[in-house]
Amino acid sequence: MARLPQAEEHLRILLPGDQITVTHNDGQIISLAREIDEVNLLEITKGEKGFTAEILKRKVDTHLEGAHGIIQSSLFEAAQEAGVSDALIMNMAEIFQWDIDFIQDVRIGDAFTIIFEELWRDGVKLGDGNISAAEFVNQGTSFRAARFIDNNGNANYFTPEGRNVRKAFTRAPVDFTRISSNFDPNRRHPVLNTIRAHRGVDYAAPTRTPIRAAGDGKVIFRGVRNGYGNTVILQHGDNITTLYAHMSRFASPKLGSRVVQGQTIGFVGMSGLATGPHLHYEYRINGVHRNPRTVPLPPADPIPSEYREDFQKRTAPLWQQLNAY
Ligand SMILES: [Zn+2]
Repeated sequence: MARLPQAEEHLRILLPGDQITVTHNDGQIISLAREIDEVNLLEITKGEKGFTAEILKRKVDTHLEGAHGIIQSSLFEAAQEAGVSDALIMNMAEIFQWDIDFIQDVRIGDAFTIIFEELWRDGVKLGDGNISAAEFVNQGTSFRAARFIDNNGNANYFTPEGRNVRKAFTRAPVDFTRISSNFDPNRRHPVLNTIRAHRGVDYAAPTRTPIRAAGDGKVIFRGVRNGYGNTVILQHGDNITTLYAHMSRFASPKLGSRVVQGQTIGFVGMSGLATGPHLHYEYRINGVHRNPRTVPLPPADPIPSEYREDFQKRTAPLWQQLNAY
């Protein structure tokens, strides 16, 4: 049964606690069902020509809920008090992460409002869905965002003015443990012991930590580059390139592939000249190396003009709901 094309992916990994419903007749299996998630159900049934697998979409009722909290001690405590799950408040922090550092910048008196989906079936709450709109007031400044899905199914969060909340680039393309070497035009090279400009930032991280594309782009180099070891270079638009070096191995995107921001392009290692596992990351504008930690990052694309009217129509009630708190 696990070899049925529809079933393979969902039966290969079974974890303790996973439930499979088996219907049998004197030990002869007639059908088998497994909940893949809240919406999708894998059903395998016996027919005349053996078993067939099918993925059924189950009906889920979505309705919008609102929550509001004021920070008295910590964001998580305020969330708890407002009946907001940790996952949901993390989700909100992710939306605003480009403007607010939730570790450093949050103050007592800051406030959040979240309009979010709740998923229900047959009178039972299944969990929280996506955040439809949110506001965070940080030290007196209000940040607002609403979710918009375009005709290709891409979901993004935009401000009331239609600005994308994201930047076109992430600041660091890897979850790092520390910065082992900064951008420095006059650095003494640790292996060669000569003065050699360090044209990027070294992010120390365990071997095999995923390295993610800093922005949407195209793979223009994927191979070994002398001291850089296994290296990927991405082209972003006309004038920006980013480089990722010392990988232990490459991920699937091949030379010429398009990648999206956050997509894994390789894994941390110490190939080439390196004293320990780290990502060497470079950011170039028109061929000139810039400090990846301080270079001003361009914003991600705003709401496309063809969606502007639709965006305004669909988000107007959400902004109103935020105003109500
Ligand atoms: Zn380096």
